[in-house]
Amino acid sequence: MNKLSTCLISGLMALSSQYANAITINFDYTFDSGFFSGANLSRRTVLNAAGALFENRLTDQLTAISSTGGNHFNANFNSPSDGVFQTINDFNVAADSLVVFVGARNFGGNILGQGGNGGFTASGTSQAFRDNLNTRGQAASDFGPWGGAMAFNSTSSWYFDSDVNTVESFNGQNDFYSVAIHELGHVLGYGSAHASHWAEGTMSSFNGVPQEAAMDPTLTIGSRKYFTDLDFQGLRDIGWQVSAVPVPAAVYLLASAMLSLIGFRRKD
Ligand SMILES: [Zn+2]
Repeated sequence: MNKLSTCLISGLMALSSQYANAITINFDYTFDSGFFSGANLSRRTVLNAAGALFENRLTDQLTAISSTGGNHFNANFNSPSDGVFQTINDFNVAADSLVVFVGARNFGGNILGQGGNGGFTASGTSQAFRDNLNTRGQAASDFGPWGGAMAFNSTSSWYFDSDVNTVESFNGQNDFYSVAIHELGHVLGYGSAHASHWAEGTMSSFNGVPQEAAMDPTLTIGSRKYFTDLDFQGLRDIGWQVSAVPVPAAVYLLASAMLSLIGFRRKD
């Protein structure tokens, strides 16, 4: 967890301090081709602020994924820098953590970003290992992904806000924070359900202020959207209560979670 970002967001999330066991979202830049490195390193601050939003609100307790001995967990996702299908064999994820691969590429047009939870294949000799795969130790009806991937349009005109608690004017630019929380919403489950977005223009509220939902399909250029009450309700209802695929009691298991990538468009 990024301490600075946690401080930045804490004013908005007054209840966050009561959750001692919140999840951690670890952004992985292995497949990034420069959008978040070098002179662009400070962009990670905005991404960390987006991650902190969910770290402070989601209290699921997730068991670790450990590929050891005869147990193998192979993570599948599309590389954020080129969209090419990737597999990382013998993947490991720490307890209470998600791994999100991030990067950017040229989507062209009005697409701002794309995100989704990852898939996997696995083989295991341990019953506990197999039971762990779909729910990460949670109830059978719960949703417990290892993480996923999200990509941003490298050709969009972006606004990177160094302090997301205040909103300045950024006419003509697209708010990176708004897109980041939207794509994280997909990683966390929006898109693995049948309805991947709220209907265009769906209204909810954030801190009592009316706002178009973050998980509708569009973002108006020059504007900020926060994750609304309705967006969080959606995570409760469809994201984190997706039924798990029953795990067969076989020595060998080959399974794959849904790999979904849903875009976010600009609204001029
Ligand atoms: Zn979307």
